[in-house]
Amino acid sequence: MLAYIGLGSNLDNPKAKLVMALNSLSEFNDIEVMTLSSFYESKPLLDIPGPNYINAVCKIETKLSALDLLEICQQIEDNQHRVRDVKWGSRTIDLDILLYGEQIISNDRLNIPHPEMTNRAFVLVPLFEIEADLKVPLLGSVKGCPRLSIIQPSGISSPRCAAVFTLP
Ligand code: ATP
Ligand code: CA
Ligand code: CA
Repeated sequence: MLAYIGLGSNLDNPKAKLVMALNSLSEFNDIEVMTLSSFYESKPLLDIPGPNYINAVCKIETKLSALDLLEICQQIEDNQHRVRDVKWGSRTIDLDILLYGEQIISNDRLNIPHPEMTNRAFVLVPLFEIEADLKVPLLGSVKGCPRLSIIQPSGISSPRCAAVFTLP
């Protein structure tokens, strides 16, 4: 199954935290990391106090069920000492399953597509970078998201590279 994972961190060297999480994902036999976006810098949601975030999106191929994938993501968060106190508060690493094939999943533990993904520049921009023509079940095309066109009227043209792009 193809799936997309959004990564974010704003604590203790966020870039290194993203790299560490990506390495952890690839260490699982049942997960192959296929494509990684550039790294993007964004402000905390709702201007919650805290350092800026580094965000990226990766595309993976996996044999795992969506729930098993969630468990692995949460295990990686725990291993990287993710502390959950304030909702949307600062974190060493956050791994959100954005899409799991074309499946629509809604239960106590999982909502896929991630319900907020098309409202968030830090998801849309990296996703558009790696998969410009992606269609999101229920939510439409990534390219057509108003949030994306506000940010990048002419699209993302830069190649994937080590630079960090700052999002408004
Ligand atoms: P948001 O989901 O708005 O980005 P968050 O990432 O800060 O907020 P967390 O505290 O990381 O939220 O996760 C809260 C719960 O969300 C998790 O325990 C998990 O069960 C649930 N969840 C639901 N859908 C997903 C998903 N698609 N990916 C990851 N977690 C999810
Ligand atoms: Ca999140
Ligand atoms: Ca999360």
